[in-house]
Amino acid sequence: REFDDAGLHPVMRENVRLCGYVAPTVIQAYCIPAVLMGHDVVACAQTGSGKTGAYLIPILSRLMGKAKALAAPRPNPKGYNRMTDRVRAEPLVLIVCPTRELACQIFDDCRRLCYRTQLRPCVIYGGAPTRTQRESLEMGCDVLIATPGRLMDFMQQQNLVAFHRLKFTVIDEADELLSNGWEECMEKIFSGADVNVDADHTYLMFSATFPKEARKLAKEYMEDDFVKIR
Ligand code: AMP
Repeated sequence: REFDDAGLHPVMRENVRLCGYVAPTVIQAYCIPAVLMGHDVVACAQTGSGKTGAYLIPILSRLMGKAKALAAPRPNPKGYNRMTDRVRAEPLVLIVCPTRELACQIFDDCRRLCYRTQLRPCVIYGGAPTRTQRESLEMGCDVLIATPGRLMDFMQQQNLVAFHRLKFTVIDEADELLSNGWEECMEKIFSGADVNVDADHTYLMFSATFPKEARKLAKEYMEDDFVKIR
């Protein structure tokens, strides 16, 4: 199969080509059509399988059709006062992953796939000062890539992230996240993301293995007819 037959937005087709991807990987061949059709997805995926593209390509492609209408609030560059006109991040897509390295890798792929669109990705992770990350969110954020601790911090302590525009939630390397004591935190993030979310909200979960905590999360939040890819 080729990317050309996948029903992607023309800008996405071009961005995929610019990334040097000629044909979809196996996981992409299964995942892209499922997400384009609006299904929730649970996929068994190893690093190196092309799993990042498997969710970013169809999600961003779907948003590209309506990127202008959906564009995040941006600060007015003239006369913007950081202290009084603070802009909250109101992402359309939330991607949670366990490590800073993975977050930065997803962010790089996302930037390339958002090329020539209005969609703006941001990345936040622990172990680094919050200030630059906060400032990047304040410039407008459509796709938020986050590690769970920093995300909780920004959600709860600082009220910097709001989920009322959220359309897609992705959890990448779910087994890592859930086995490292982040289970309760993921529950909070998922239930936070569930608030005010319309019925067409899509959940995707990627993991090498499926421990019971991951199955529980899928059962609780996903549509019953979610697509399983293994
Ligand atoms: P991932 O599994 O998402 O970490 O991706 C592994 C590597 O494969 C990354 O360097 C991607 O840029 C690359 N990649 C992803 N999709 C494709 C594709 N369809 N064709 C060739 N390379 C790809």
